[in-house]
Amino acid sequence: MTAEVSLHHVSKVYGNAPVVNDLSLDILPGEIFGLLGPNGAGKSTTIRMLTTLTQPTEGQISVAGFDVARQPMQVKQQIGVVLQQMSVDVDLTVWENMEFHGRMHHIPNPQRQKEIDTWLEYVELGDRRDDYVKTLSGGMKRRLQIARALLHRPRILFLDEPTVGLDPQTRRRLWEIIKGLNQQGMTILLTTHYMEEVEYLCDATFSSSETPNRIGIMDSGKLIELGTLPEFRRKYGEGLVMKQQGDRWDYQFFPTLEDANAYFEQQPHKAGMMVRPSNLEDIFVELTGRQLD
Ligand code: ADP
Repeated sequence: MTAEVSLHHVSKVYGNAPVVNDLSLDILPGEIFGLLGPNGAGKSTTIRMLTTLTQPTEGQISVAGFDVARQPMQVKQQIGVVLQQMSVDVDLTVWENMEFHGRMHHIPNPQRQKEIDTWLEYVELGDRRDDYVKTLSGGMKRRLQIARALLHRPRILFLDEPTVGLDPQTRRRLWEIIKGLNQQGMTILLTTHYMEEVEYLCDATFSSSETPNRIGIMDSGKLIELGTLPEFRRKYGEGLVMKQQGDRWDYQFFPTLEDANAYFEQQPHKAGMMVRPSNLEDIFVELTGRQLD
């Protein structure tokens, strides 16, 4: 299967420091790929290189079959991009923002108006089309960004921290929108530092691709782990024993939950101990020695 997004030994150096360091990765058609990592890991820089906004210092990138360095215009036609910073114009109305983007992409009328209606309805902003963007909530602005990114029917959607700063309910609503797009076959790459976001969206048991959705864990510019959550849990251990040591917790992984329980049962002093299945956050902390937030 040909990858929709392919990075081959990609690095980006600012000053003397590599902020993305020898990154190689393929994302398959129909996959929702989650790039997870703490602030400063190099996630946004990776998205900026994939979406033609900045050039890699080294390495090759292809997106939708086009070389990002040599064919940036073709790449731009195939991708939708939602970046962290709000790029919608707050002094224009919802419809004007959509119209402007549609003209930039040379979508002719009446198709342009039809697409604007379709995508505003999809993100449930149809009734706000004539309102100024400055009157919308943060979640609505983000939905407008997504609707706008979809207007030219891209094959691949890039979402950089799509739900950062949004309340849990709004975040859930956005997850449904993102999952729905993937169910329609769209390839999606999202970055996040929220564990539950990748656990929900990059669920290995659900995929529009021929293979399960995967998660890449990035830290200090490097991809330090790549696979599905069930694969990570098998590798690091599915059972966990937590032991309170003063004001911190010690974590010990066991192959299975049963093994963790058996160990717990043998302990003479069970106070301050807890057994549970491992999760993505445990594995992240084990890998990096750090909490995400
Ligand atoms: P993330 O999205 O994972 O938080 P970023 O890609 O935004 O990480 O940043 C990675 C590192 O690169 C950070 O240390 C950041 O300060 C640095 N960086 C990002 N953009 C620039 C730039 N234009 N010039 C210099 N340093 C940058």
